[in-house]
Amino acid sequence: MGKALDLNTYLDREINCSCGHKHYSAVKRIDIDQGAVKRLAGHIQELGYKKIFMVADKNTWKAAGADAAAELEKAGLSYDKVILDYDEVIPDEHVIGEILAAVVPGTDLILAVGSGTINDLCKLISYRMGLDYIIYATAPSMDGFVSIGSAVILNHVKTTLDCHGPVAVIGDVDVLSQAPMRLIAAGLGDTLGKYTCLFDWKLSRLINDEYYCEEVVEMVETAISTVMKYSNEVRDRKPEAVKAVTEALVLTGIGMSFIGNSRPASGCEHHFSHFWEMKAFMHGKFPALHGTQVGVGTIIALYLYHMLENEQVDFAAVKASGFDYEAWEKEIREVYEIAADGIIAVEEKSRKNDLTMRNKRLEIIEKNWADIQRMIKEGLPKVADMEKLFAGLDAPINPTQIDVSLDELYESVIYAKEVRPRYTVLQLIWDLGLSKEYAERTREYFAG
Ligand SMILES: [Zn+2]
Ligand SMILES: [Zn+2]
Repeated sequence: MGKALDLNTYLDREINCSCGHKHYSAVKRIDIDQGAVKRLAGHIQELGYKKIFMVADKNTWKAAGADAAAELEKAGLSYDKVILDYDEVIPDEHVIGEILAAVVPGTDLILAVGSGTINDLCKLISYRMGLDYIIYATAPSMDGFVSIGSAVILNHVKTTLDCHGPVAVIGDVDVLSQAPMRLIAAGLGDTLGKYTCLFDWKLSRLINDEYYCEEVVEMVETAISTVMKYSNEVRDRKPEAVKAVTEALVLTGIGMSFIGNSRPASGCEHHFSHFWEMKAFMHGKFPALHGTQVGVGTIIALYLYHMLENEQVDFAAVKASGFDYEAWEKEIREVYEIAADGIIAVEEKSRKNDLTMRNKRLEIIEKNWADIQRMIKEGLPKVADMEKLFAGLDAPINPTQIDVSLDELYESVIYAKEVRPRYTVLQLIWDLGLSKEYAERTREYFAG
């Protein structure tokens, strides 16, 4: 199998980067390849652990945990385990308590067998217990393998808690490629979302002089282009394709730890996802998979970007236009419901909608407008190509396929930008006074 990237070159050492920062990731080892299960015990022994506690659910145990346990036994490693007996594990107080109560005293390593939820639970619990953890990945479904936040549901509200990352990420491509296709497609969605997220970052470097790291961007772009090269083989679960998707997901996580925040991995396509997820939870619905939402969000973001390509902007008129803060606050209360206070606090702190700041940005946008339009034209994939790619995996390409109504779509084009004080195309169209018009055009497009 050809190696485009050797992930281990980025690990366990400080990198003096051309961006002027020092980058470091605490991950010591990554092994995403065929036959990784046979190397799992060796990795654990070389890293010095002796008493392992495995956490799986009944599906991941069947798919991967039992074989991994057999390898530990063969190597003479002592282990205990908990197998969560649910079809869909909800990362709430109940499950956190269930795992905590099962962990055996003297454990020196938590071995998580799973992907999104199991990973979130284990990174949190190991962090709180002062233990290291390794993720033995069973599905390439999202890019949170090495991130230092854990998404859990406390008191019925989704919350991200600080924690640590794993010391190693191990994934056997023979296992990963047998994951449910909707999980693999979600992972592809989270990966291809990097197109718009990196573009948002480039935009912000230009407009806000935001800190930017060429090398991290290049690292993530290399990972996406490898994924694109194999994208037609994902459907057939080809090992090369599944390996490329998984490595890209792990690598973007490394990129985040290098930068110290989620800028290299999360732009407006993620703001859509956060917005829809928040709305779903508020209305007692279970949201679609994160990566599935990000995939749809990416298509919408590309649609917005490409509309800008031909936009004739009357900059003088935009600069003269006002902003009615009271009306905005009223809209935020309607759209964000119980979450509105938090959203208003984000604005009070960041002042992203402040007119002086907006007009300062507009000066720069005006000066660079032709360049921005050219960057969009040359630097971003076409909407139709992205739709074709996802549709080929039977993955959703329209918000209505993931239980997001056209009205919610309209709202998210205008208001999803408020979830984070991060510059993206959503803030750009707001700056240009185009949010409502573009929201309407987006609704028309997705109405078919
Ligand atoms: Zn750098
Ligand atoms: Zn993501």
